[in-house]
Amino acid sequence: MKILTTIADAQARPRAKRRVLVPTMGALHKAHGELIRIAREAAGKDGEVAVSIFVNPLQFEPGGDYNRYPRPEKADEEFCRNAGVDLLFRPSAEEVYAADRSTFVEETSLSTPLEGKSRPGHFRGVCTVVSKLFNILAPDAAVFGEKDFQQLAIIRRMVRDLNFNIEVIALPTIREEDGLACSSRNQYLNPEERKQAAVLYRALTAAKDTGQKSAKDVVALARKLINKAHLARIDYVEVADAETLKPIEVTGANGVLLLAVFFGKTRLIDNIRLT
Ligand code: AMP
Repeated sequence: MKILTTIADAQARPRAKRRVLVPTMGALHKAHGELIRIAREAAGKDGEVAVSIFVNPLQFEPGGDYNRYPRPEKADEEFCRNAGVDLLFRPSAEEVYAADRSTFVEETSLSTPLEGKSRPGHFRGVCTVVSKLFNILAPDAAVFGEKDFQQLAIIRRMVRDLNFNIEVIALPTIREEDGLACSSRNQYLNPEERKQAAVLYRALTAAKDTGQKSAKDVVALARKLINKAHLARIDYVEVADAETLKPIEVTGANGVLLLAVFFGKTRLIDNIRLT
């Protein structure tokens, strides 16, 4: 596995037949393993799987967990090696961002509700760094997880709007045994918070299984179940259209239930398609 830390080295590297990129912030877990597996399938045996590990300061809001975000460098490197990654791109923040940077990439519609409302500037940071990674590594395809449902929709929109010649491949959400979506942030949870966090998937599946068509009723049911976990503090629970991410009142073929919930200081997100 080749490890690159500078943009110049990454751009100088000869191109494989087909390169598939998995952008991550590291602290790699089971879900990243699946993204890499899908990337390998998409790259084919002559192709190349590239993983980027970059904790992107631009997508953390002031007072967010940028400084305490886990950075287990050695373990991540081993993880990639064992997963058969060909190219690991691991630049520093100084390498990626010039001190006087003044150009950003911003999606202005899908980024407004949900995470965008709770985390102003977050998706501008995401779009900017993903564009830069696309320019630096020039992949033919890139793999993203449905766990970050809004992010995936925004990346697809950005790729379309800015004519990146890159196929976006989506991976369904990977979960722990009790249903909690795998996340690097789960390790912040203390044992009691971790136990109670399983309520999120129970609430999502219960809300889906009622077959309720009224978004208000779906949300009310999910909120009621989540509030049974006394450590849970809801940020939002909303039903949206999967394409536009705008709120909907009646869940048709395109309904998705999305939530963000705090357990202590840890903010977890999850979602489920309602059809
Ligand atoms: P992160 O390292 O958290 O920025 O995530 C890197 C990529 O992994 C993103 O495309 C995420 O959507 C995806 N991802 C993270 N957790 C999961 C999960 N539990 N299931 C599917 N994809 C995930």
